[in-house]
Amino acid sequence: MTNKEYADLLLPGVEHTWEEYEKMYPERDLPEGAMVTRYAPSPTGFVHIGALLVSFLNGRFSSQTNGVCYLRIEDTDQERSVENGILSIINSLNSFGVSFDEGPISETEEQGKYGPYIQTKRADIYRAYAKRLIEEDKAYASFLSKEELDEIREQQMKSKQRIGIYGRYAKDRNLSKEEVFDRINKGEKFIIRIKSPGSFFNKIKVNDLIKGTMEVPENDIDEVIIKSDGIPTYHFASVIDDHLMHTTHVIRGDEWLSSLPKHIQLYEMLGFKAPKFAHIAPLTKNDNGQIRKLSKRKDPEAAVDYFTEDGVPKEAIMLYLATVANSNFEGWLDQNPNGKIEDFKFDFKKCSSSSGTLFDLPKLYNISKNYISRLTKEEVYDRTLEYASKYDSEFKEILEKYPEYSKDIFNIEREQKKPRKDYEKFSDVKRQVWYMFDELFDKYKDEYGYDYQSITDKEEIKNIINTYVDKYYDENDDKDTWFNKIKELSEELGYASNMKDYKENPDNYKGSVADISTVIRVSVTTRSQTPDLYDILRLLGIDKIKERFNLL
Ligand code: GLU
Repeated sequence: MTNKEYADLLLPGVEHTWEEYEKMYPERDLPEGAMVTRYAPSPTGFVHIGALLVSFLNGRFSSQTNGVCYLRIEDTDQERSVENGILSIINSLNSFGVSFDEGPISETEEQGKYGPYIQTKRADIYRAYAKRLIEEDKAYASFLSKEELDEIREQQMKSKQRIGIYGRYAKDRNLSKEEVFDRINKGEKFIIRIKSPGSFFNKIKVNDLIKGTMEVPENDIDEVIIKSDGIPTYHFASVIDDHLMHTTHVIRGDEWLSSLPKHIQLYEMLGFKAPKFAHIAPLTKNDNGQIRKLSKRKDPEAAVDYFTEDGVPKEAIMLYLATVANSNFEGWLDQNPNGKIEDFKFDFKKCSSSSGTLFDLPKLYNISKNYISRLTKEEVYDRTLEYASKYDSEFKEILEKYPEYSKDIFNIEREQKKPRKDYEKFSDVKRQVWYMFDELFDKYKDEYGYDYQSITDKEEIKNIINTYVDKYYDENDDKDTWFNKIKELSEELGYASNMKDYKENPDNYKGSVADISTVIRVSVTTRSQTPDLYDILRLLGIDKIKERFNLL
């Protein structure tokens, strides 16, 4: 039996040979230095915040070098695939501004000349290359049953050896072609493994653009490349795809760092030029003193949806991830507060080479707060309405009923040099403005209660507000006149009209102008802290002010 016949016996009938596939995936015509990157998720439908970071960086590095970033769906492990998983990944990433030049665009369609971009549609390609390895005596059929594998594993664990099929455990390596032929004819199931040429005692140097040069033992494990159902393993499929799709840079999470020796070996065995690698440190969390990776299972904030449901603007999440990606991004953003992420040049050298980056929620919320503070009143209105439409029908109705009034409210201390930073996320907005709407005021005022701070005497409160509406409040006053009148009111009622006087002689006064403002503020809003009181009174208008005073 020739090697070719032997390969046909193990993997009968392929549509094309590997040489044909080489021709079908020609070099890309790209400018010098252009990076071809890829994001290669399993279609689980779930987007982890760390995955968003990785996909984002793949996109940035390719686009800042006029290259290509493609999406490849790694669905060789069918158990991890979920229905509509592909589409929900695409949609979720798109909504964060991460899009791809090539790859699937729906469950059934794709764009780009280097597809198919879904691995289960590429089965023939992997088989063609596996056949090549078999022909070259670099891969073999392995009949080890599950029981045998379990036994080997147990034995290795007991004697504290490395787990895997290597050395004397790789006993099917030496089966003759005839033996293999007989066993296949008998219907025995088999898988294809490489004949690893490596030795564990050999150290090889691997280069990573982020982690630097590392010395690691060569791979000596006879890795599986084709499973018994004919489907390739992740390692085999991804090496072949990265080669055929002409990936220049593999940028991925550093949980794959330990697979690098295997991948490098596969590139060599297949005679491919290996791409460059950049392994990104994971986002971590301090869990009661223990630093661990942010986990999909344990941490709700690991899912990007967690933040969108909470109303954190997607742009803020991306700004935060950019600060995680490159240590100098934050300084750049301080210098360019309105700068776009696309204007920043990412650099592998500025990526953290550590074993993890703490996921800093306060920082994320701070970035978000600053981001929202720079939006116009229209933008705040639109985005809050968009959020409320999904998560808060009561507030949605109010916003739709009073669009201009709502915008005026959002505009208090906005669109100015140092805008007020009331909202960390769109879910905060209602909590900060409900008292401006009668419908919500009636509903929530008692729930929150009037926060008069140190002023407790009800009669005194009434006296202050009655004197205020009767003698001092005039809707037409400008801000200075309005404030002077509050000072006059203070004096009339025995309160210091400025803080300095009050601090010097507190015993001479019942309180200060600040107490007077607080009484007015709390009486109309229930809250002791609000944005500009002048604007609030102006927007509420005299009728509402009177109504609210009368409620007391
Ligand atoms: N399919 C792998 C994953 O789910 C991709 C690893 C890689 O980028 O090589 O993360």
